[in-house]
Amino acid sequence: MSNTQGNPCLACSTGQHCCIRLSGLLLSANEFITLFKYHQEKLSIKQSNKVTIVSSKEGNACPHWGPSGCRIYQQRPIDCRVFPYITARIIEKRSTVKIVFHSRSDCPLKDQLFLHMPEADIKNLLIEFGKNVCGSTKTIVVSHERGFISRFRNRVEAAISRRLYRMSS
Ligand code: SF4
Ligand code: SF4
Repeated sequence: MSNTQGNPCLACSTGQHCCIRLSGLLLSANEFITLFKYHQEKLSIKQSNKVTIVSSKEGNACPHWGPSGCRIYQQRPIDCRVFPYITARIIEKRSTVKIVFHSRSDCPLKDQLFLHMPEADIKNLLIEFGKNVCGSTKTIVVSHERGFISRFRNRVEAAISRRLYRMSS
């Protein structure tokens, strides 16, 4: 069985630019160690509080990208699983972590992908990500940012072609 089976992004009319121009992928420490540490010479790596943010050097593709798509599709990080939803902010205050996400409007298959990804599943994945990053005892509150703020963020993201992220504590 191909490890890219069931990947709707293989039909992406942008040629899967999310993977081909990897920029600002958010990872837990465990995701970085298990999936990206051994490719670090190809990556620009930043640490923002407890989140590791990786981009490919010189606008290259993700090191897991291959001719048939993502080579680790079944094991890909949570930030890849939720796309074209984007984590906009992670705010940690004492025992609570608030994660705000929104949807990218420039994904050509977004309607199809959203059908495969009920919002409840996305929230569960982001709760898992929040616990992986900040600790299993934290209370994770996930909210979907919509309306003007989401549309404004989409315009900014499309303009600079990367994900925006802020974490505060
Ligand atoms: S999430 Fe959308 S834009 Fe990104 S690779 Fe998939 S179909 Fe293409
Ligand atoms: S891990 Fe896979 S899905 Fe995620 S950016 Fe890399 S190639 Fe794309």
